[in-house]
Amino acid sequence: MKLTPKQYLSYIAEVASAVDSQGEYITALDAATGDGDHWLNLNIGYKKVVVAAPEFADAADFKALFTGLAKRMMSSMGGTSGALYGSMYLAAAKKMEGVQALDAARLSDVLGCWASSIAERGSTAPGDKTMLDAVAPAAEVFAAALASGVPEEVALDKMKRAAWQGAESTKNMQAKRGRASNQAEKGIGCLDPGAVTMAIKLECLGDYLQKHCL
Ligand code: ADP
Ligand code: MG
Repeated sequence: MKLTPKQYLSYIAEVASAVDSQGEYITALDAATGDGDHWLNLNIGYKKVVVAAPEFADAADFKALFTGLAKRMMSSMGGTSGALYGSMYLAAAKKMEGVQALDAARLSDVLGCWASSIAERGSTAPGDKTMLDAVAPAAEVFAAALASGVPEEVALDKMKRAAWQGAESTKNMQAKRGRASNQAEKGIGCLDPGAVTMAIKLECLGDYLQKHCL
């Protein structure tokens, strides 16, 4: 597997369009358990990142790319998601000095950083009904799949499935973080919007890698 900074930006453009096409669905999810702005926050942010992509296209390494993406996301995505997405990319950037392409092991590091930085910044743990419930199992399953020696194509399938199973598992969870935790029913019976959009992000990543980078 080999993913370059330019390819990473093409992947981001694919997530942006996937998120853009799910406006009604994601807005309805956040309207049920939050304040209804989750899709708008992400959609505005992703669009601004896509417009700014030429600035990052010649990034020397993934540290520069992820730092640039983090800053752009923090300044243009609103809500809790903007802060958390910024933290995810900043945390991953710190481990990517001199890395000019992501292989499977580096990707596993990135996913692990995403999960740990959300847990830290959001003071949250798996089971709290947040976006962490999609990325934490995806990171864990991908690392375990690589360690078991399965082909990368299969490891990516497992990663995508874990992300969606994690997102779907939020339906029966009681929210301990985020706006759903302020509701009397704690969001039980509803999917967490941030977990769904994180699963979309991870599915697009797996799809992109399988199509262009193996
Ligand atoms: P806001 O809650 O500020 O309106 P958004 O609507 O953009 O922000 O994002 C809501 C999503 O953010 C939730 O669905 C959840 O996945 C995630 N989230 C909220 N609080 C936390 C937290 N403390 N830790 C991790 N994720 C969180
Ligand atoms: Mg919201």
